[in-house]
Amino acid sequence: MLQAILDMLYPVRCPVCGDVVTPKDMKICSPCEKKLQVIVEPRCKRCSKPIDEEQREFCSDCERKDYHFDFGYSLWIYDPVMRKSISEFKYHYKKEFARYYIEKIVQNYGNAIVKLAPDALVPVPIHKSKYRERGYNQAEILAYGIGKELNIPVLPNLLIRNKKTLPQKQLSDKERLKNLQEAFIFNETAVCNYPRRLKRLLLVDDIYTTGSTIEACTNVLMRHGMEHIYFITLCIGKGF
Ligand SMILES: [Zn+2]
Ligand SMILES: [Zn+2]
Repeated sequence: MLQAILDMLYPVRCPVCGDVVTPKDMKICSPCEKKLQVIVEPRCKRCSKPIDEEQREFCSDCERKDYHFDFGYSLWIYDPVMRKSISEFKYHYKKEFARYYIEKIVQNYGNAIVKLAPDALVPVPIHKSKYRERGYNQAEILAYGIGKELNIPVLPNLLIRNKKTLPQKQLSDKERLKNLQEAFIFNETAVCNYPRRLKRLLLVDDIYTTGSTIEACTNVLMRHGMEHIYFITLCIGKGF
């Protein structure tokens, strides 16, 4: 009864077109789902970005950079369709879109994530002023959803976003990483009572663009004794 009333009050809206989804048990309209570009092989063994030739192991970006995270997965290409969807999710209170995102992540990468055996999921944090403004951290919503489905604990406060970062666009790769690294703080109090030793973590975020955010978080975590860092993001930029 309650569920029926809730369904009527809050019908599921499509994360692509924003309309009410029919039939009722779906989370996206099927024509809209076809617009999303799911990432398939061949793809980079480190960042999961699509690559042209099957023989190559890494994308040119990962070949060029000495990343410290192990590797990670992204589900969709960050194209205009996903850009709009994620922007609604992040900035326009469309938290409900996460239900579809989480379902797809778990369907496509649930087994792979379980195999990595992370000790915990760590959402990439946002600055507290942004948190106040938006009311939530989109990465945290994703992490809790995935964690619940796969039975993996979530540590939402292991990393804290320290300061507002400078706009990244004008910076070189090196400046970008330095700028970002200073932006994340390892929060000792989040782990002092934690029942198990943390060695393997899976970072969760909405978009992977240059990899600098994941790398910055990795460096901070490794400085505090973590040994393996993986990531999962909804989307990844198309390539370089
Ligand atoms: Zn739709
Ligand atoms: Zn790559």
